[in-house]
Amino acid sequence: MSARVLLLGGTGDALRIARALDSAHVYSLAGLGRVPADLHCTVRVGGFGGAPGLARYLADEKIGLVLDATHPYAAQISANAANACEQTQVPYWALRRAPWQPHPGDDWRMVDGWSGVTGAIASYERVLFTLGREPLAHLDEVPTHQHWTVRCLDPHPGHARAQVIDARGPFTHEGERALFESGRYDVIVSKNSGGAATEAKLAVAREMKLPVVMVRRPALPPALREFESVQDALDALHALANLKHRNIDA
Ligand code: NAP
Repeated sequence: MSARVLLLGGTGDALRIARALDSAHVYSLAGLGRVPADLHCTVRVGGFGGAPGLARYLADEKIGLVLDATHPYAAQISANAANACEQTQVPYWALRRAPWQPHPGDDWRMVDGWSGVTGAIASYERVLFTLGREPLAHLDEVPTHQHWTVRCLDPHPGHARAQVIDARGPFTHEGERALFESGRYDVIVSKNSGGAATEAKLAVAREMKLPVVMVRRPALPPALREFESVQDALDALHALANLKHRNIDA
């Protein structure tokens, strides 16, 4: 039996799975970042129009399995996918990277959403945001006693009290240490993304005894099967779908 797979992506892990898919399968991106041009599978870009649009897409394209490998903070598309799969009786699988866990010496301040972030950083002066583009929408709200550095994928001019660094991981321990020292930050803001590519900042914050304001993960819908690693997902896909190869390093 072979099922046509819709892979929901926008993460490095999803791209690694997409590289193993042959032309029968579809890799879907929201359209915010780079669109890879060297994949064998079909690549589609842009929203589906909520859960109803996605349900129509699953039926029209005769999708037999959805693998959700979106970022753990992309809660809307995951909710839509679970809902659309339920409507159309298509199995919903998810790759859910394990969250980072605090180590001895960490000073994590757990918060919910943007209002939680602004409350937790209120008493600090030099703030490094490492949670994507969200702070860009609030640059005109930088309090007069603060200077923000926002690291995200998007270039942006910033202003006198806000610098934007456009950079893409993975980030090394040495690189993060050099950034933290040159920026003289007194607090770091992060999502709990999990994975190795952006974890170095946490070790450097620990060493430098810097507090980390950590935004809690949103609730995600349960999936029929959940995988913690790309290889586990590929092994499971291999049993159901024709793949180009089943090893991440192939
Ligand atoms: P979101 O809030 O969960 O989704 C917003 C809307 O974007 C969805 O309702 C859907 O539009 C569309 N969408 C999202 N992912 C899609 C996909 N893979 N294919 C087609 N449409 C998609 O998502 P987000 O947090 O804005 O993230 C957008 C993308 O960036 C995701 O693919 C995610 O994996 C990636 N990403 C997010 C983060 C993060 O921190 N949030 C970090 C790294 C990468 P319709 O309702 O019209 O279908």
